[in-house]
Amino acid sequence: MARKFTHEEIIPKAAYHDRTGEYPVEILKKAWELGLMNGHISPEYGGPGLNILDTCIITEELAYGCTAIQTAIEANSLGEMPIIIAGNHEQKKKYLGRMFEEPLMAAYGVTEPQGGSDVSGIRTKAEKKGDDYILNGQKMWITNAGFANWFFVLARTNPDPKCSPGQAFTGFIVDGDSPGLTRGKKEINMGQRASDTRALNFEDVVVPKENRLGEEGSGFKIAMGAFDRTRPPVAMGAVGLSRRALEEATKYSMERTAFGKPICEHQGVAFMLADMAIAVETSRLITYRSAWEIDQGRRNTYYASIAKAYAGDLANKCASDCVQIFGGFGFNTEYPAEKLMRDAKIYQIYEGTAQIQRLIISREVLSQAKQGF
Ligand SMILES: Cc1cc2nc3c(=O)[nH]c(=O)nc-3n(C[C@H](O)[C@H](O)[C@H](O)COP(=O)(O)OP(=O)(O)OC[C@H]3O[C@@H](n4cnc5c(N)ncnc54)[C@H](O)[C@@H]3O)c2cc1C
Repeated sequence: MARKFTHEEIIPKAAYHDRTGEYPVEILKKAWELGLMNGHISPEYGGPGLNILDTCIITEELAYGCTAIQTAIEANSLGEMPIIIAGNHEQKKKYLGRMFEEPLMAAYGVTEPQGGSDVSGIRTKAEKKGDDYILNGQKMWITNAGFANWFFVLARTNPDPKCSPGQAFTGFIVDGDSPGLTRGKKEINMGQRASDTRALNFEDVVVPKENRLGEEGSGFKIAMGAFDRTRPPVAMGAVGLSRRALEEATKYSMERTAFGKPICEHQGVAFMLADMAIAVETSRLITYRSAWEIDQGRRNTYYASIAKAYAGDLANKCASDCVQIFGGFGFNTEYPAEKLMRDAKIYQIYEGTAQIQRLIISREVLSQAKQGF
C-alpha cells in the first residue's frame, strides 16, 4: 500500500512541492487516512501499534517518492516518541489519541540556535511556579513547527551549571496554541524543501505540571532515548533515496548513448550502478538490524548509529553518482537527479550528524573493549 501510495500520490507532486516549498497538506491527509502515519502508537490509544521494523519498511517506500514528504511524516513519530517512552496514561490518551481523530502534526523541539550536537548546552529554561512551569527560550530547525498541534520540548529545570545533563533537563508537552509561543518563518533550505522547518520562541509560556514527561530531571534521557527508535526510520529514509537514485540512473543509462552504445555498457558507468546497488542492499540490511534489535527489546544504540551514519553517507554518494550518470541533465532542475542530491545532504546532519554518530559508535566500541568484548 505504501508503494502504491508513493507512486500515485507522492511522485506526481514531489517536484511541485520541491519547487514551491508548499507544505504537502493534501498528501499528508491522504497518508493519514490510509494509516501511513503515527504507526508506533499502540491500539490502546487508537494506533496500529507497529514495531520499528514495520515502520521502516513503510518509510523506505515513502522516501523513494520524496524524502521531504516522508520527513514531515517521520517528524510526527519523532515528536510522539518521548510520550510513547515516558508519558503516563492521561498524557498518551490526550496527545497520542488525538492524532487519530484528525490529521494533526506534532514536532520534537530540542535543537537551539547556539547548537544542536551538544544537547547538554541547551538554554531554554523551565521554572516551577505553583502547579505550572514557565518556559523561556528559543528552539531552532524544528521540523513541522509551522503546523504542529503540540510539541515535545526539552528545557533546563536545574539552573546549576554543575548539575549533570542526566539530571538538569525535563521534557514537556507544549500545546501549539499556548500564549507566548511563537513560530518563526519557514526556513528556505537546500533540500527537502517541502518539509517545514522553523524556529520557536518561548516567552513566559505556561505549561501545567500535568504536561511534564516523567520526573523532573529525566528529560535528557527521554529525548536521547527517542533516537534509538527514530534513527532506524531516518536511516531508512536515506535507503529509499539511494534506491531511487539507483533506479533513475539505471533507466537513464540504458537509454542514453555515447560512443555508439548505451552508457550502461561502459564499464565506468556500470560500476557506478553496481556501487549504488551495494549501497542500497547493505544500508537496508544494517537498518533492518538496528530496528529488529530494539523490537526484540534489546539496546540498539550502536546499530542505530551505524545505520544512520552508513545509510546517510551512502545516500549522498548514490545521489551524487546519479547526477554524474545523468551528465549535464543531472545538473538541471527538469530532471530528478539534482533534487535527490540536495535532499540527501540532510541525512548527514539531522537526527545527529555523521560525526556525532561516529562519536556514539566509537564510545560503544570502547565500552565493549573495556568489558573484554
Ligand atoms: C532541515 C532540518 C530539520 C531538523 N529538524 C529538527 C527537529 O525536528 N527537531 C530538533 O530538535 N532538531 C532538528 N534539527 C536540528 C539538527 O538535529 C541539528 O542541526 C544537528 O543536530 C546539528 O546541530 P547544529 O546544526 O547546531 O550543528 P553543530 O552542533 O553546531 O555542529 C556543527 C558541526 O560540528 C560538528 N561537531 C559538533 N560537535 C562535534 C564533536 N564532538 N565531534 C565532531 N564533530 C562535531 C558537527 O558534526 C557539524 O559538522 C533539524 C535540522 C535541519 C537542518
